[in-house]
Amino acid sequence: MIRSQTPDIIGDIKRGGTEIGCDRMAAQIRKAKKAKVLKEDCVACGACVKACPVSAIIIYKGITAEVDADKCIGCTKCVTACPASAIYMEAQE
Ligand code: SF4
Ligand code: SF4
Repeated sequence: MIRSQTPDIIGDIKRGGTEIGCDRMAAQIRKAKKAKVLKEDCVACGACVKACPVSAIIIYKGITAEVDADKCIGCTKCVTACPASAIYMEAQE
């Protein structure tokens, strides 16, 4: 059930190359889960910043990580990298 609800981004990449395919893929990425920071748990270590392949995370004022949801592609690498369990994935509307 979960699998059928997951956007078929890889399938689109394999079929890709068309402008329509790219538009659809971009829309699916926008709807996919995005990383979100639990600011009270973040210790501003920067591990998530280093792990993010699209530079979607900054350390805001040296205090806490912040995710740019428009850049986030939902890869979850930041979640794995965080030593404080301060990042989770949140579904978009
Ligand atoms: S889920 Fe991936 S793309 Fe999004 S902020 Fe984390 S590492 Fe970056
Ligand atoms: S890895 Fe975790 S604790 Fe470190 S800056 Fe990112 S969210 Fe904060």
